[in-house]
Amino acid sequence: MKKTTGTDRSVTRNWRPATQAVRGGTWRSEHGETSEALFLTSGYTYDDARTVADRFAGDAEGMTYSRLQNPTVAMLEERIALMEGAEACRAQASGMAAMTAALLCQLSTGDHIVSAKAAFGSCRWLVDHLCPRFGIETTVIDSADNDAWEAAIRPNTNVFFFETPANPTLDVVDMQHVCDLARAHGITTVVDNAFATSVLQKPLDFGADVIAYSATKLMDGQGRVLAGAVCGSEEWINEVLLPFQRNTGPNLSPFNAWVVHKGLETLELRAMKQSENAVALGEFMEDRVRKAGGTMLHPGLPSHPRHDLAMKQMRATGPIFAFDVGSRSTAFAVLDALALVDISNNIGDARSLMCHPASTTHANMGAEARADMGVTEGLLRINVGLEDIEDLREDLDQAFAAAGL
Ligand SMILES: *Cc1c(COP(=O)(O)O)cnc(C)c1O
Repeated sequence: MKKTTGTDRSVTRNWRPATQAVRGGTWRSEHGETSEALFLTSGYTYDDARTVADRFAGDAEGMTYSRLQNPTVAMLEERIALMEGAEACRAQASGMAAMTAALLCQLSTGDHIVSAKAAFGSCRWLVDHLCPRFGIETTVIDSADNDAWEAAIRPNTNVFFFETPANPTLDVVDMQHVCDLARAHGITTVVDNAFATSVLQKPLDFGADVIAYSATKLMDGQGRVLAGAVCGSEEWINEVLLPFQRNTGPNLSPFNAWVVHKGLETLELRAMKQSENAVALGEFMEDRVRKAGGTMLHPGLPSHPRHDLAMKQMRATGPIFAFDVGSRSTAFAVLDALALVDISNNIGDARSLMCHPASTTHANMGAEARADMGVTEGLLRINVGLEDIEDLREDLDQAFAAAGL
């Protein structure tokens, strides 16, 4: 492998994010390939016994086994770390592998975690069902209530866990407030940044400790692979995450890492354009939704209770928003009338996709927890893609009319 400028941090740290997104972390083989090489290998061979012994002892750099290192995956990890402004990153097999590793690697029986109640359904399952099975105490709070964070702290609290904007109610967390509070109490803040990505917001700038990703969403952005990542300080990644990850094996496959590389190259363009389309479509729909007695949940619109905060801590508010059309039957009528936008529960895709969270992404959590979290029966969530905004407006216009809105 030939080192390129992409591997020299004294150079790459000074690049702007758009340059890091296309060149950060790139190594080249002796063939001088333009695109990152895809190393589909589980193991490695060595010129002599001493070389492998030194690598296993940690005295020499180099690959030993793809659960521990893989060149294609390592390139992606370096690129994500650069874009995030983090010292280190480790890729994971999926977003949920990332969330599970980020939490379990640092929690033990008797610890306490404070988590945002508005969260992706499986993240809630980790907090509500998995952690308690191992004697980890959990408190779930309204993450948009600054005082609720402090009130939930106990002597054994060691992790704060939240996403912002949150899936699917678009709650916005005051990152500066929550991270400052965590710092003051020696609590580690874990932020699920899947909705925004580093292009739209950098939780590390507000004092967050660990950033966890579903790279399946905006990072891949074209609906192809499952992937995840965890970013943090070199010390935290090496001493806290790696012992867990290397021995439990939630690794990202080199092929999926390669696909995410290609996604990162266009991430900024997509995230900014999709955010712009999402604001335009939200503005177009807001009156219709209001007149039907519903509510619009869109951090990019002034009607959102934390619009100003969202604009302050984000560069743009992202492709996703939600709206309530009153009942499950009306929500289903809107979905069934869509002619262009697909019915799909994925997000971050270049295609516009719409889903009914109560019967899909948040179906498993039960009616009571759903209601508490604001996932109403009439709630629809849309991921706004890269299609022409006029085509999207026309499709929503006719779907609303067909549903009597
Ligand atoms: C999708 C998603 C996840 C889970 O990611 P997978 O890649 O599907 O495992 C976690 N958090 C948020 C906010 C998500 O949107």
